[in-house]
Amino acid sequence: MKIAEFLKECRESEIEFIDFRFTDIKGTWHHVTYDIDSIDEDTFKNGLPFDGSSIPAWQPINESDMILMPDLEVGTHFIDPFTADPTMVVFCDVLNTDYTPYEKCPRSIAKQAQKHLEESGIADTAFFGAENEFFVFENVKIRDQINSQCYWVDTPEGEWNADNIEDYEYNTGHRPGTKGGYFPVPPVDSMMDLRAEMVKVLKEVGLETFVVHHEVAQGQGEIGVKFGTLVEAADNVQKLKYVVKMVAHLNGKTATFMPKPLYGDNGNGMHTHQSLWKDGKNLFYKKGEYGNLSDIARWYIGGIFHHAHAVAALTNASTNSYKRLIPGFEAPSILTFSSRNRSASCRIPFGSGEKSTRIEMRFPDSSANPYLAFAAMLMAGLDGIKNKYEPVGPMDIDLFELTLDEIREKGIKQLPHTLREALEALIADHEFLKPVFTEDFIQTYQHYKFETQVWPDEARPTAYEF
Ligand code: GLN
Ligand code: MG
Ligand code: MG
Ligand code: MG
Repeated sequence: MKIAEFLKECRESEIEFIDFRFTDIKGTWHHVTYDIDSIDEDTFKNGLPFDGSSIPAWQPINESDMILMPDLEVGTHFIDPFTADPTMVVFCDVLNTDYTPYEKCPRSIAKQAQKHLEESGIADTAFFGAENEFFVFENVKIRDQINSQCYWVDTPEGEWNADNIEDYEYNTGHRPGTKGGYFPVPPVDSMMDLRAEMVKVLKEVGLETFVVHHEVAQGQGEIGVKFGTLVEAADNVQKLKYVVKMVAHLNGKTATFMPKPLYGDNGNGMHTHQSLWKDGKNLFYKKGEYGNLSDIARWYIGGIFHHAHAVAALTNASTNSYKRLIPGFEAPSILTFSSRNRSASCRIPFGSGEKSTRIEMRFPDSSANPYLAFAAMLMAGLDGIKNKYEPVGPMDIDLFELTLDEIREKGIKQLPHTLREALEALIADHEFLKPVFTEDFIQTYQHYKFETQVWPDEARPTAYEF
């Protein structure tokens, strides 16, 4: 969209503020706000200066001046539905002061990945579609033994203390039992109106939604969002998380996309649907082959599996992620593909004609920064195509039933068991990311994750160990 056109749209909508947003390494959305009267076409051409040293793992104080460059091209800007005064939100990229892309800006990395795809000649477009599952918890104090689906326990330290929950009595009527949420009608499903409210707001901010449902776990939900190009789809993840969390918050509840908040019940995935296109043709489609999948699609899966341990450092970016990747909860633990099979790391969704043929990577979760996760999967997939890596499979059996011996016998690789394992793999295996991720970024990322997640987690005794 042209700048003049955009400013005209703002005037017509009586916008008073422009909110400029960018994403840090962790995936957190940040913003600065400008009064619309202080903004003109030059703001969009020259960008906005900001302090890059206040963002974790970004710039040192002596090089802290950076540029926020608003992006109207992707077209994901939207009017914030939650502010008291009309506010337009604009996605931004972070640039160095010489206007080159900042190597630690995830959205710039995602753009580089798109550019790399185009230059590879393999395809011109990659489509991504994410399914970000979430939980909604009641905000209750431990002492308020109220009848609710799930418990957000507000301890004096303000921390989760799920281990205490089972000791309390509560009314179990009209609430889903463990794994019982998918999908009885209300009153067992008490989130219907809340999800509907989320969907209406998502529509307002420009997301096309389709299936809306309670998920398998207690208090868990999912709202299907239409796929888009890599950057667009990642922008949409940011929007979805913002809206879901805000609507829950305004209803006195807390939404979380944390991968495994509850022991013994399903976790939250970010299944990621992917396909490559060239000249309007779906390169993943070959009629009559297994799942109607072309060689290119299979090799793409093979590439992601080949580099899966390193990729996981970016797609499953928290220590908590690996508590989800265990058998028995519809989340994968071994690296094989299969059509219609929810125990495999990669499912080929049913009913795919040329247009809808795609792969669904099931191991990613929402603790990932979507820009980095999608870019990493694309790079691994392209490497798979170049090297013709064959994935293990197809395996159309319930993979949760396999014993460790069988997994070894069949030579199937497993996903990493810890964030440490994934980060160590990333350090050892990141040549395939190099055209898009700099060495400095990889080093910063892994160090940041060790410092903020792995080491603090490894140092803490857990309730279970007692
Ligand atoms: N919640 C499951 C996961 O962790 C997926 C369940 C589903 O979408 N059917 O991936
Ligand atoms: Mg789904
Ligand atoms: Mg789901
Ligand atoms: Mg899915």
